[in-house]
Amino acid sequence: MNHIPLSRRLLAGVGAVALIAATAPAATSASGGAAPAADSRGASDQAHDKIVTARIDADRIMGHIETLTVDIGPRVASSPEEDAAASYIADELESLGYDVEVQEFPYVNTVGYLHVGGPDGTALLVRAGGGSALTDGDGITAPVVDAGFGSPADFPAATAGAIALVQRGGNTFADIVGNAAEAGAVGVAIQNDDWRIFSATVADSPIPFVTMNDEQGELLRAAADDGATLRMNRYQTSQNVIATKAPTLPGRGARDEVVIFSAHYDSVPASPGASDNASGVAVMLELARINAQLPTATEIRFAAVGAEEVGLRGSRHYAQNLPAAERDRIIANFNMDMVGTASPEQNTLFMNTLNGTGVDDPADNLVSRAGRQAAERLGYGDIVRSPYHRGASDHQAFHEIGVPAVNFIWRDPVTAALEPTYHQPLDTIDRVSPDRLRTAAEIIAAASYRVIRHRVPGRPADGG
Ligand SMILES: [Zn+2]
Repeated sequence: MNHIPLSRRLLAGVGAVALIAATAPAATSASGGAAPAADSRGASDQAHDKIVTARIDADRIMGHIETLTVDIGPRVASSPEEDAAASYIADELESLGYDVEVQEFPYVNTVGYLHVGGPDGTALLVRAGGGSALTDGDGITAPVVDAGFGSPADFPAATAGAIALVQRGGNTFADIVGNAAEAGAVGVAIQNDDWRIFSATVADSPIPFVTMNDEQGELLRAAADDGATLRMNRYQTSQNVIATKAPTLPGRGARDEVVIFSAHYDSVPASPGASDNASGVAVMLELARINAQLPTATEIRFAAVGAEEVGLRGSRHYAQNLPAAERDRIIANFNMDMVGTASPEQNTLFMNTLNGTGVDDPADNLVSRAGRQAAERLGYGDIVRSPYHRGASDHQAFHEIGVPAVNFIWRDPVTAALEPTYHQPLDTIDRVSPDRLRTAAEIIAAASYRVIRHRVPGRPADGG
């Protein structure tokens, strides 16, 4: 992340001082001394939760999602858009007073871009063809021709020097690209027959090619007269953004422990990634804002990680490069991945862990217990499932280094399915629910603040 000024790394002390000064002690109990003991405890618990839940602002959360998905768009691992998202997140966390560090790591990825009406025109959602030839940085600007199903007879005379738009379904991908090159095309866009994006690989494709869904293909067809610019670039570097705040409780109130929040900000190709996972990043930024203002007994960290969709690259790079002494200080990981879908069936917040075997062996740990207890205190006990045995998100990287970790995610309570628009061009901000975001944020905020201030009362004496 070479465009992030080096000064970010040198500002550490300044941010921390500002934070302590800005800390406003909040009331920790609203219970009167005259109340019966049991009720007093319950009232105290609820007042404690309210310190964080009352501060949650769903509009702010939606604002972050808009920036990440509408202003920036798909954020493929190592792409300039992923980098732009990292800069946005780093700036937000720095403005909250955190000590922010950007950790780069190598990941090589090919990313395709297609703009109609020239390089500054409307960006279409495309996926880079596997094995595609690259363009130079400016791309290829050329007219667009309709080449049917890509059989040799389908290519019009004007194909020479043009970008060929081909309908999927009549020929193999290798034949489509080969026939297009034979007809003189400088690039190929393969259009699906429904809304799904798809992957295609042609080993050593002689010309650049991309794939797209039916809607985006129609937009390209409509723009044929204006031409299009096709770019195919290879990028080398992804990054994590790590924000830290030292404990603010003085003396014996402070604990030499770390609570770490995480969320990935990359997306799959051609998907704006609103639910997956601008939602998780946005909730995490809101938790960072709230916790910046509150007294904290542990160190807290917020890790926005890159390159999750290509195999948990960012979170594993971060976790596995932690010194052993630092790993040992981390007591909990709250990971947020897909915490805002509006899809009706995905109405249950799962708390996925990798502890236990997942069969008869409960997969509980400190974080899933804290999450479950918080949900029950907040009246959400019937819309959570905790624990549930599953990996496949960044909590796995923390679990692998021995940290009790949970991924919070909305799923279908019967089938455990994710929403059908997951990893698709349809994963857009209008399919995200401010109410679901708020509910998830309340549960995670209450659960994590309990751990940050007190660990979890009454937790079983285990290592989790
Ligand atoms: Zn995800």
